[in-house]
Amino acid sequence: MKLHEYQAKEIFGAYGIPIQKGTVIDRPEKIDEVALTYPVVLKAQVLVGGRGKAGGIKLAAQPAEARQKAAQILGMSIKGEIVRRLLVAEAAEIGAEYYLAFTVDRAARRLVVVGSAAGGIDIEDVARTTPEKIVKIHIDPFTGFYPYHARAIGRKLGFEGKHLLQFAVIAHSLSRICTEMDAELAEINPLAIVKTTGGAAGDGSLLAVDAKLIIDDNAIYRHDGLPRNEELTDLEVAARSQDLSYVELDGDVAIIGNGAGLVMSTLDMISHFGGRPANFLDVGGGATTENMTHAMNIVLRKKGVRSLFINIFGGITRCDDIARAIAAQPPPVPMVVRLTGTNEEEGRAILKQAAIHAHVDPEAAAQEVVRLMGKA
Ligand code: GDP
Ligand code: MN
Repeated sequence: MKLHEYQAKEIFGAYGIPIQKGTVIDRPEKIDEVALTYPVVLKAQVLVGGRGKAGGIKLAAQPAEARQKAAQILGMSIKGEIVRRLLVAEAAEIGAEYYLAFTVDRAARRLVVVGSAAGGIDIEDVARTTPEKIVKIHIDPFTGFYPYHARAIGRKLGFEGKHLLQFAVIAHSLSRICTEMDAELAEINPLAIVKTTGGAAGDGSLLAVDAKLIIDDNAIYRHDGLPRNEELTDLEVAARSQDLSYVELDGDVAIIGNGAGLVMSTLDMISHFGGRPANFLDVGGGATTENMTHAMNIVLRKKGVRSLFINIFGGITRCDDIARAIAAQPPPVPMVVRLTGTNEEEGRAILKQAAIHAHVDPEAAAQEVVRLMGKA
């Protein structure tokens, strides 16, 4: 689960990482109640990156300007997400911008620290174009992250003296946040050297200007008081309202199955034969004709779907109920059906009347849909 910047900063601040003084508002008029020193920075609270480039971050020198800019940002759409909250913070005058993050390297089966003196911008771009500007070290899970690790990274990023010590303290706090909060990612970008903030002459200290924290969904139960941020797409909301489990991916084969295990193996088969699932929907046990109709409507509405694969193993679910839904509304894209189990004969008869062939062997069916995609 992703946390909003203001939620992450609350945690970062509690761990002693320097952050700007700020408050969250949901209406432009609330600017008047904000007790902060100008200039302020207004920051859209959405769960997508690159808010700066998208116009979701603006500076304001005085309240009237802040109200006007707040009105511009609140309600705008950033990468499909509507801005409902705004973080208003005392603006910093920024010198150099650095990058620092702790994340899970699954391949290495340990945490990795990533640092760069080329912060502020998209770290993926830095990694692609100038990989030499990125410093990485893996953390041994048995011994952990030590201050000397932090200082070693800091030195490689070019920090000295006071900045090196500050950096080491921040890095150590961030490592604690990552492990204690069961984070998949704890990131500061930019970690900036600031000249001034809150109107006061700054002393060139380090400041976490941005904060990103993603908590491992499997560990959420271990953390009381975490906010619950919903990040569902329209189709996921539609599926949930019908009690259907639906997940979006980024390929082009829509998948419907019954039962989590069957659906997972269907995804694997499609991938194995060279196809790419667009999404998958589990109609569950005992799916009715109506459930199946909803399921087809949902998976086919996803943008970029070029074929439909239905894999049903009838148990409590009856093949004839499923077949009735399929026969009643043949999809606008090529479809491959695998149908076997309870009431299979009846189901096949219904499909046959609609001139739809049903496979018995799931592998043959998966191969068929991938082959169709190749042709399309
Ligand atoms: P992101 O674009 O979603 O990553 O949002 P950030 O919080 O990282 O802000 C993007 C950019 O806006 C930063 O790299 C800064 O250049 C600028 N910015 C953010 N906060 C401030 C601030 O307090 N003062 C100034 N001068 N610039 C800021
Ligand atoms: Mn950022």
